[in-house]
Amino acid sequence: MKIEKISKDKEKICFLIKGINNTIANSIRRSILEIPILAIDSVEFYKNDSALYDEIIAHRLGLIPLKTTKTFTQKEKCSCKGKGCSKCTASFKLKAKGPIMVYAKDLKGRGIEVVYPDMPIVLLGKDQELLLSTEATLGIGKEHAKHTPGLVWFNSYPIVEIKNCNGCQECISTCPRKAITIKNKKITIDPLKCDICEACVELSKKRGKCSINIKPSKEDFIFYIETFGQLKPEEIFIDAIKILDSNLKEFEKQLSKKAKKKK
Ligand SMILES: [Zn+2]
Repeated sequence: MKIEKISKDKEKICFLIKGINNTIANSIRRSILEIPILAIDSVEFYKNDSALYDEIIAHRLGLIPLKTTKTFTQKEKCSCKGKGCSKCTASFKLKAKGPIMVYAKDLKGRGIEVVYPDMPIVLLGKDQELLLSTEATLGIGKEHAKHTPGLVWFNSYPIVEIKNCNGCQECISTCPRKAITIKNKKITIDPLKCDICEACVELSKKRGKCSINIKPSKEDFIFYIETFGQLKPEEIFIDAIKILDSNLKEFEKQLSKKAKKKK
């Protein structure tokens, strides 16, 4: 397996993985749903004069991405046995009086901060009050989407074959992704823009002057990871690989246990 970085910024990373197969690529993608991510899980309302029901505000609070400087344990694996303690639960308080727009930054808690402080929660009219306390815990995206660290998707790397190009440039305008360019009278197809729609392949078959062939690679994949802000995009990938590895080890352990029993 070989990894080549294609592009990277604060929120998104794109890279090429060579020498795997579709099953492994998809297992890595699915493993991000098992990365423990902090999110608000319970809300207690003391006062809510706003136009929104308690449930709607609670739902909005649940979707706010949270960052932490502390290391948390998953509640069910914590020494408190799921009762909730400082090792597995973070508490927030929110107190606001209108007229005001309540933002995510108005949540006050220790050791935890919101990723996007300017996310609006609710608009309070004159003399309307909102008073609540919340608890955030670690969870996984498999159980609830609010615990998802980001988006991961991948494409097969396109294998391009161009024969007998006469430089007519007709294929350039057929490509909906504008992946085809011409240099020194020779066309080239950008593998990062091409999504293998085969519009150019069909055109070349119709015209019969040249031949363009594009196939999806079965072992090279372009990966994209976009974070919601709780983790860096490269951390999402590393954590997903670690989880996949530990799941496979567990699977192996269970299999060998069963094999021993049969003997
Ligand atoms: Zn605990």
